[in-house]
Amino acid sequence: MSDLPPLREVIRIHGLSASKALGQNFLFDEQLLDRIAAVPGDLNGAEVFEVGPGPGGLTRALLRAGARVTAVERDRRCIPALGELADAYPGKLTVIEGDALEIDVPALFTGKPHIVANLPYNVGTALLVRWLSAQWMPWWQSLTLMFQREVADRIVAPAGSDAYGRLAVLAQWRSSAKIAMPVHRSAFTPPPKVMSAVVHILPQTAPEGVRFDRLEALTAAAFGQRRKMLRQSLKSVPGAIAAMETAGIDSSRRAETVSVAEYVALAKLLSD
Ligand code: SAM
Repeated sequence: MSDLPPLREVIRIHGLSASKALGQNFLFDEQLLDRIAAVPGDLNGAEVFEVGPGPGGLTRALLRAGARVTAVERDRRCIPALGELADAYPGKLTVIEGDALEIDVPALFTGKPHIVANLPYNVGTALLVRWLSAQWMPWWQSLTLMFQREVADRIVAPAGSDAYGRLAVLAQWRSSAKIAMPVHRSAFTPPPKVMSAVVHILPQTAPEGVRFDRLEALTAAAFGQRRKMLRQSLKSVPGAIAAMETAGIDSSRRAETVSVAEYVALAKLLSD
């Protein structure tokens, strides 16, 4: 490990000028990276999936924590630098060149990995939605993911807040979702325009008898017209008006006042 050059040197040696198109904002601060790698808990001997290792700053922190890391990186220029890191940690790092949106990631693992990533912002939400829509209990153990602060706020938003919407319900109906730490824009090279935050998500037992497609249809309709009363916005969902009556949910309420538990109760009635 001590033989590894500093990350800024890796960037220089391998000519890794940050590409905007690939959402590249790198982290170099080892203390910060160690704190991010500590969010999932003890990683000694654990399997970790990392999306977008780039020059390998977060990857190094995960390896320092004792994890076995499988990383998918789209930028071919980063592969030699990551190869040097793999040489420094024999048998601990597997690097796959490819697009995390295209690869069959669950097939890479026999056990349940933690997913840890400083995500490229342009694919972050798509990956999160995919991981949260997986068959439950999911193939992953936990998610520790960097997002723009505004997206992080939407993931953990409580009912009644402006940020509350489909993403909050998706992230909270069968998982716990918390902001683990805010990250200042100046921590990145180059600094993005906005602040960031690391979100920590742990899967929980799913409520029984709730079909995911029913919950999705409800939240799509409700938040698709979030300023309208539910009796209007849920008109297009078969059975929803009757379900509100059965569940004792006042149909003059608006989408953002309905708690995650209430959406789940409605979805359950529609799943029978
Ligand atoms: N992990 C590094 C760090 O913390 O310094 C780099 C983070 S940077 C925000 C995002 C990384 O994801 C870049 O290295 C980028 O090339 C990579 N990337 C972008 N889109 C990707 C995709 N679809 N699949 C895999 N990697 C991707």
